[in-house]
Amino acid sequence: MIVVSKGAIVTGGTKGIGLGIAQALNAQGYQVTITCSSLMSEAKKKALYEKFANSAQVLIIQADVKDYEACQMVVAKTLELCADIDILVNNAGITKDNLLLKMDSEDFQSVIDTNLVGAFKMTKALSKKMIRQKYGRIINISSVIGEIGNIGQANYAASKAGLIGMSKSFAKELASRNITVNCIAPGFIETDMTAVLDETVVEKMKKQIPVQRLGQVVDVVNATMFLVNEKSSYITGQVINVCGGMVM
Ligand code: NAD
Repeated sequence: MIVVSKGAIVTGGTKGIGLGIAQALNAQGYQVTITCSSLMSEAKKKALYEKFANSAQVLIIQADVKDYEACQMVVAKTLELCADIDILVNNAGITKDNLLLKMDSEDFQSVIDTNLVGAFKMTKALSKKMIRQKYGRIINISSVIGEIGNIGQANYAASKAGLIGMSKSFAKELASRNITVNCIAPGFIETDMTAVLDETVVEKMKKQIPVQRLGQVVDVVNATMFLVNEKSSYITGQVINVCGGMVM
């Protein structure tokens, strides 16, 4: 039974930035579908549902963004719960860092397949519905690394730079249908992805950030909530850096 009209999909929304965005959308009344790549136990799912203000309007689905049929299934399952899917946040992402001489082709390819091709597949799976409903807000979570590059992150930088070019192309294709497509490029945000970094590396990073701190999930959430707002209809094809001034 459809109970709400407004729906949102956040890929990789089980933790970190994606979870923060999903929680904020849910608190604003959206039916939110979050995807995870690996199977979750019922106990873990229950604990995750409890993190939401309105858990009755949350759906957790195991769906790898690399799998187009899984992306289509995510859209179909979400549409069983809400009439429209207004928002897509392509957040799922991985890193497999290594220097050029040590990086094997598989690690290059798998980062591209998840971060870039995964966002393409999820967007394609939802695009027909968004075009038909003549409304949509698509946010692709890129990275400042996609703009400036980084030692040991050629695969990640390529995937995130690719996301920016893809978003601009989709923005041009979809603007006449009242669908905006923008990127958010976070700097260093405190999540599991950056928790693996050595303390000395973190201290070095802080020195490169004018506001002198690492970003928090809420910093990315705030920028996302601005872009997904109905009133942000004149902003499309843009990249907002959320990085404490690290990249200007
Ligand atoms: P995280 O590792 O905490 O979370 C990543 C999420 O993506 C997880 O929920 C994971 O299950 C999901 N995921 C990974 N592969 C997937 C797949 N194939 N299918 C579906 N889901 C998949 O990371 P985070 O720090 O919250 O990062 C979220 C996004 O923000 C990523 O795209 C990341 O590249 C980007 N980003 C993060 C930072 C940072 O400093 N943390 C900086 C710039 C950009």
